[in-house]
Amino acid sequence: TLSDRLTETFRNLRGKGRLTPADVDGTVREIRRALLEADVNLDVVKDFTGKVRERALGDEVNKALNPAQQVVQIVNEELVQILGGQQRRLEFAKTPPTVIMLAGLQGAGKTTLAGKLAKWMVGEGHSPMLVAADLQRPNAVTQLQVVGEQAGVTVYAPQPGNGVGDPVRVAKDAMKVARDRQHDVVIVDTAGRLGVDAELMKQASNIRKAVDPDEVLFVLDAMIGQDAVGTAKAFQEGVDFTGVVLTKLDGDARGGAALSVASVTGRPIIFASTGEGLDDFEPFHPDRMASRILDLGDILTLIEQAQKAFDEEEALKVAEKLATETFTLEDFLAQMQQLKNMGSIKGMLGMLPGAKGMREQLDNFDEREIVRTEAIIQSMTPAERRNPKLLNGSRRLRIARGSGMTVTDVNALVTRFEQAAKMMKTVARGGMPQIPGMGPV
Ligand code: GDP
Ligand code: MG
Repeated sequence: TLSDRLTETFRNLRGKGRLTPADVDGTVREIRRALLEADVNLDVVKDFTGKVRERALGDEVNKALNPAQQVVQIVNEELVQILGGQQRRLEFAKTPPTVIMLAGLQGAGKTTLAGKLAKWMVGEGHSPMLVAADLQRPNAVTQLQVVGEQAGVTVYAPQPGNGVGDPVRVAKDAMKVARDRQHDVVIVDTAGRLGVDAELMKQASNIRKAVDPDEVLFVLDAMIGQDAVGTAKAFQEGVDFTGVVLTKLDGDARGGAALSVASVTGRPIIFASTGEGLDDFEPFHPDRMASRILDLGDILTLIEQAQKAFDEEEALKVAEKLATETFTLEDFLAQMQQLKNMGSIKGMLGMLPGAKGMREQLDNFDEREIVRTEAIIQSMTPAERRNPKLLNGSRRLRIARGSGMTVTDVNALVTRFEQAAKMMKTVARGGMPQIPGMGPV
């Protein structure tokens, strides 16, 4: 899948502290291949990789603490942009009823969507009416009546002798009925063909003129691959639409259609359909789709958590101290107290495969330990705190007596201090522990 390919690409950036132009080109080439294999339109791919390349070679990456991670962020941001940037909500009419017309190929999921939208609208406090303007197939009207019943809403269907065979007439009549019965939303289901068809496009266009919709939603089966762009363009020319609904995202759609259509038509994706049931449906979030494509959701959360826990400034201060060998037992105490504040740090480290060593260190910490450590360190002279190498046998005995601890306790503390100094060195060098695929050097 697209996700797998991209994840693999980023794994190759692992351990790169500095990226060379060759690294960037190699990565961009892989991204390009992954997107093309996922059926993303060629023009969209070119545009996308061009932007990523330019940014990846720029200052924001060069100056980043972790360049590889920065490239991942850039890819993510550009994906969100291509998918429409901000989430776009449905537009409602200032004066009801709000009219929503559905258009798209046969089998795309229009009738199912009509039911989903209706149910969702009811949940939002609206009183929608469904209109059966698909008179192409014998059972299309019945199908809409069934989903309408499931959603618990009124369905306007052509009466015998009253507009049968003329969907434009049906749509017009339906508008009158909706106003009379005070429905504040009207959802118009229309006919589709298996392929783009001039006569049908004309019909949809005429229905559009007749009902003057607030939204025309182009319903697109996410599984149709490269055809998505051609179909979308044809509908944009023939009927035009205000938004896109992607259906069948529950299947193993490769995601390419989604990437291409919003970008090529300049129309936002408003909803995503993820199953046959009326509840399998949700407003479309470009950022979530991008994360899903990149499989980044979990990884990004992890990075955020790690960045929060390992306050970078603090790490830099420690790094400086280590460099000048002024990391003292007082600093150690401060570090321990900081660790105490991190709360769930052990759980977090459990998610980082590279942090096993640190996790073991942290297992040694508990709060009573910190209290005892405080007592011991306070029994030391300032000189001893600054330079633990001074701590010979007789000094350790004196400290043990002064703090009410044993010499073994004091020895254990000095050992932990040395371990912590080593750990801090690791943290200071890398900024944070290794994450496969994006770890620092
Ligand atoms: P229409 O011809 O555009 O009205 O399409 P339909 O609403 O009749 O749907 C065609 C088929 O696709 C039906 O069998 C639906 O149950 C199915 N379908 C619609 N939306 C989805 C979806 O999001 N996921 C899946 N798996 N099936 C869907
Ligand atoms: Mg239908």
